[in-house]
Amino acid sequence: MKYSIFSIARNALSHHKNWPEQWRSPEPKTDYDVIIIGGGGHGLATAYYLAKEHGITNVAVLEKGWLGGGNTARNTTIVRSNYLWDESAAIYEKSLQLWEGLSQDINYNVMLSQRGVLNLAHNLGDVREGVRRVNANRLNGVDAEWLDADGVKDFCPIINISKDTRHPVLGATLQRRGGVARHDSVAWGYARAADACGVDIIQNCEVTGIKREGDKVVGVETTRGYIGAKKVAVVAAGHSSVVANMAGLRLPVESHPLQALVSEPIKPVIDCVVMSGAVHVYVSQSDKGELVMGAGVDSFNSYGQRGSFHVIEHQLGACLELFPVFSRVRMMRTWGGIVDVCPDASPIISKTSVDGLYFNCGWGTGGFKATPGSGWAFAHTVAKDEPHRLNAPFALGRFETGALIDEHGAAAVAH
Ligand SMILES: Cc1cc2nc3c(=O)[nH]c(=O)nc-3n(C[C@H](O)[C@H](O)[C@H](O)COP(=O)(O)OP(=O)(O)OC[C@H]3O[C@@H](n4cnc5c(N)ncnc54)[C@H](O)[C@@H]3O)c2cc1C
Repeated sequence: MKYSIFSIARNALSHHKNWPEQWRSPEPKTDYDVIIIGGGGHGLATAYYLAKEHGITNVAVLEKGWLGGGNTARNTTIVRSNYLWDESAAIYEKSLQLWEGLSQDINYNVMLSQRGVLNLAHNLGDVREGVRRVNANRLNGVDAEWLDADGVKDFCPIINISKDTRHPVLGATLQRRGGVARHDSVAWGYARAADACGVDIIQNCEVTGIKREGDKVVGVETTRGYIGAKKVAVVAAGHSSVVANMAGLRLPVESHPLQALVSEPIKPVIDCVVMSGAVHVYVSQSDKGELVMGAGVDSFNSYGQRGSFHVIEHQLGACLELFPVFSRVRMMRTWGGIVDVCPDASPIISKTSVDGLYFNCGWGTGGFKATPGSGWAFAHTVAKDEPHRLNAPFALGRFETGALIDEHGAAAVAH
């Protein structure tokens, strides 16, 4: 059923009791052309673009839990494309362009709100990095502006720009096309659109082994039995290295906890997104009125979806200096995700040394914004068995050649 004002009106007549399920829950077939491991946004987007762009529909997405239960629905939903290097700007900008038409494309409201993203500068080093990034962005056709402290105050009136603070605001980069989107809508919207193309979405199905015949992948062992596959595409985020291990591969990826938290709902006070890499604060306000905030990564490796108290204590301390107006707001919930981080803070979208086995991972603390572009480029790589020019620089080979894409300035801490 196409979602529209007419379908809402039609269903109102039956008191909204007859909406169909958004996607089927079929039993797994014995084999597929492509199996995608991981039902987060990236895996579901890959399935959708495999069907839509390449006509490959004999596809299953296997998810060990529920759709979006990983990082996809645990993140702070910041969307932007103002990365430093040409390679990153190209793929994140492709993603932002897909975001801009996504609700129409998949007939699902992903609630993209392009309210503008500020990246604050607190010292001379930050200012230099920010101005450099604005110039690099403009050369790449990505919208970017530099604001001085007064400009920041005009854009976000509740921010404290007093010079007499631990983290004075000296200026900020601004991407007006940046903003936020609704995270679980992204997973559900892609799932529904992929399902409509014939993709099987199978939840509660954990992959426990990858079956190889020589140098070729032939299927996967799962908690619901063996499933054969011509190709296996792994999009398992924080568990990528665990799945790689099943195929006898070792990835240059480390998994860390990363936390977010939300406040009780309050009246609208902040109508943009503010990020500070230096003090590990990023904040926006949800449609429900909650302040949505993220922290920095816990520095130890872990697969537990929770982080340490001192990390959010540090984050809230810095947050209150920037926004004294929040001082009596109560925080309501906190949670953690497991982020997969590469040494250069850039992702891996790549073939592997095993025929028919592909990995899309390493998005670390900032892959939500990349969901459409990542799925689009990965689908090309899987369908054609070769990378698209957008993701060729993000192949595993860069860890041998040394052609790393160092995005620590734009990606490592905040989003
Ligand atoms: C607190 C926090 C804040 C963040 N904020 C932002 C932000 O503001 N902006 C931004 O761009 N990014 C942000 N990120 C990063 C972003 O969330 C991730 O990069 C992105 O969501 C990754 O999507 P994914 O689909 O690859 O991963 P996931 O959504 O984690 O999906 C991977 C899926 O694989 C499944 N899986 C794993 N192993 C198996 C197996 N063996 N068998 C079957 N299934 C398996 C998991 O259950 C999971 O559902 C944040 C992350 C966190 C944790």
